[in-house]
Amino acid sequence: MPPNNTYKIKEIHLTWQGEGFHTGRRAVFVRFTGCNLWSGREEDRIKAICQFCDTDFVGMDGNLGGSYTATSLARLILNLWDNEERPYVVFTGGEPLLQLDSKLIETCHHHNIIIAIETNGTIAIPDGIDWICMSPKANSNVIVDSGNELKIVYPQKGIEPMMFAHMSFEHLYLQPMFGARTAENTEACKAYISENPKWKLSIQTHKILGIP
Ligand code: SF4
Repeated sequence: MPPNNTYKIKEIHLTWQGEGFHTGRRAVFVRFTGCNLWSGREEDRIKAICQFCDTDFVGMDGNLGGSYTATSLARLILNLWDNEERPYVVFTGGEPLLQLDSKLIETCHHHNIIIAIETNGTIAIPDGIDWICMSPKANSNVIVDSGNELKIVYPQKGIEPMMFAHMSFEHLYLQPMFGARTAENTEACKAYISENPKWKLSIQTHKILGIP
């Protein structure tokens, strides 16, 4: 249970999933504060385990950011939802499993909300998550070995897709590392997938389209 029974949230958006298997799906994105692989401060990046992060997960100052109880967070997700399908939330971060617990999972399910997570795979996953997307980072201690979607940011020094071949995921994705070399990285993904067709290409469409 998080301190004071509240969850620290950087930002919340009703948007679309921009990448991976559920690309284009309506979703509420809930971004938790904090990550166990980087402090989020630029001065710490050089010594962080994960050094390519382009996400701001520090503080609670984003859209609808703040401290929420499980009930207040579930109600906000319902209030934001805008169609007749079951509400679909993506818990992300930072690393959502630093805070996401059975209380929040049960409360969301009580409100008929489908729960997806995007995790770096270094923290055990509690029961009840409906969609698990794991994106491993080089030099981290990955303990998650099964789920729905394995998404490797590629190329990533210290990580080869074959390192994860023994794991049990329904969908395997390579996603070009975003930045100054996105085009080059996309070509590297395409080349690997051409040789290894079990893998699929994940494009970060939200970045192309400017969707939050
Ligand atoms: S694990 Fe994810 S959230 Fe954490 S620093 Fe790396 S890319 Fe960012």
